[in-house]
Amino acid sequence: MTATAPREGQLWSRCGGCATLLYRKRLRRNLDVCPECGTHARLDAPERLLQLVDAGSFAALADRPAEVDPIGFVDLLPYPHRLSAARAGTGLAEAVVCGTATVGGHPCALAVMDFRFLGGSLGCAVGELITRAAERALEDGIALVLVTASGGARMQEGALSLMQMATVSQAIAALREAGLLTVSVLTDPTYGGVAASFATNTDVVLAEKGARMGFAGPRVIRQVTGRALPEGFQTADFLLRHGQVDMVVPRHALRGRLAALLAAARAGGRRAARPGVPRQEPSPVVARPAGGAAAVTGPGGDAWETVRLARHPGRPTTLDYLETAFDGFVELHGDRLGADCPAVVGGLARLDGRPVMVIGHQKGHTTAELVSRNFGMASPAGHRKALRLMRLAARLGLPVVTLVDTPGADPGVSAEEQGQAAAIAENILALTVLPTPVVAVITGEGGSGGALALAVADRVLMLQHAVYSVISPEGCAAILWPDRGAAPEAARALRLTAPDLCRLGVVDDVVPEPAPAAHQDPEAAARALRAAVLAHLLPLLDVPAATLVRRRRQRFRRFGAARLGARAGAR
Ligand SMILES: [Zn+2]
Repeated sequence: MTATAPREGQLWSRCGGCATLLYRKRLRRNLDVCPECGTHARLDAPERLLQLVDAGSFAALADRPAEVDPIGFVDLLPYPHRLSAARAGTGLAEAVVCGTATVGGHPCALAVMDFRFLGGSLGCAVGELITRAAERALEDGIALVLVTASGGARMQEGALSLMQMATVSQAIAALREAGLLTVSVLTDPTYGGVAASFATNTDVVLAEKGARMGFAGPRVIRQVTGRALPEGFQTADFLLRHGQVDMVVPRHALRGRLAALLAAARAGGRRAARPGVPRQEPSPVVARPAGGAAAVTGPGGDAWETVRLARHPGRPTTLDYLETAFDGFVELHGDRLGADCPAVVGGLARLDGRPVMVIGHQKGHTTAELVSRNFGMASPAGHRKALRLMRLAARLGLPVVTLVDTPGADPGVSAEEQGQAAAIAENILALTVLPTPVVAVITGEGGSGGALALAVADRVLMLQHAVYSVISPEGCAAILWPDRGAAPEAARALRLTAPDLCRLGVVDDVVPEPAPAAHQDPEAAARALRAAVLAHLLPLLDVPAATLVRRRRQRFRRFGAARLGARAGAR
């Protein structure tokens, strides 16, 4: 059971930790921490701000989210109904409150998430609002503080919500470059896409006492591993023990710690805001006139059927493509930190005579192969190996080609212990600033954050029968429908096919497969992949690195931007 902060009007409330009946005023005076057992009740965003910033110093950003439903998502209820209910229930426009304030007299920009609002889920508007808070920090030359509370990406916005992990990460990257401090405060709970991006790729990560953070939630991990979870798994103290957070801070000390960090950064840096960093005026998401997409939208394109084709064991793997579409592959191994993940392969190869770095998920065709490759589910070591190879490519001036085929990142116990969320987060951030061309191809399954960790690219291509999704149809069905049997319906609602994603601008081009699908004619599939990668890579080779990175950022920025109304009172 999780304690919740008491509501106005109640005289007494029961502690979620020790079940003691507590006088509400006393509890509030104690910052909603149980005086008997120390349980920290969850706070909503307004209450958190009251506790954290100097009285009267908070000024909300003027940006307001507009009504959005980018993929027309319907489960048992249409998404707009859920949004309206969340707004009515919380009095908030979205799952985050952003603004500027001072903490101990030090100015900062803040984004505070509210778990009451659709589980604090990261949708396009939330990503855009946090990005604008980060941009405000950049303009004003002040620190950014993120207080996270989230179940992960918002599945009702499909792959567009996944893109927000990249959008916010690149805003954090810009603050890194400017020498401005970023701090995240993990509060209970912080999971999924939020954990695997801005909650963990900030300079300093604080965990509030009792908070839990992880890439995969405990329910999913128990389902996948069939094991009971260790005592205290994913709690703040666990995270500290495993090197994933800088400190565990009890609520009453949070403001003081934050003030000290802000003071140190100010004294050290004294960096003025970079003059002339204009806000990028976002270009709206427009349906791309992709000839490829239109050409391959054929009959029988049911989303669930596509999911089955994308998972077909005969489908060519990354090593197959390295054999057939590339030449002279030299595999490089290891993360240099103690492991070599078999679910990620990478190394130097040639594409039509040009040297490239290829990195991809590796599945297999037989059960034994699949098991030995962990079904293409990368561990933190796999993500760190990929990161090492990306950076090596940039140093050598080689373009990067990634081949994405994973049901998702490894949701195991040891993956969590070794920092799965932060490993994914760091890859996403690194790719937003990598000074070399990157072309990603979703070849089979593009599963959530694990896929995005290799897919923040200048061009994102997708094989005709591949899928790319914020959550598996089964996982989505288990949460939003009465049972997992609704997976085919969930697959349709999620808009996870190549033509759908092309229309949404998530994918730039669809690579046609030989009929009926790639597994029937792997050679022809390899030829198509090779031609598509070449066609998209060649024009990138002469683009200066700074321009590439700027365009890549614009590419990922546009997903949230169109989802906001006109900026009221722009300064
Ligand atoms: Zn208690």
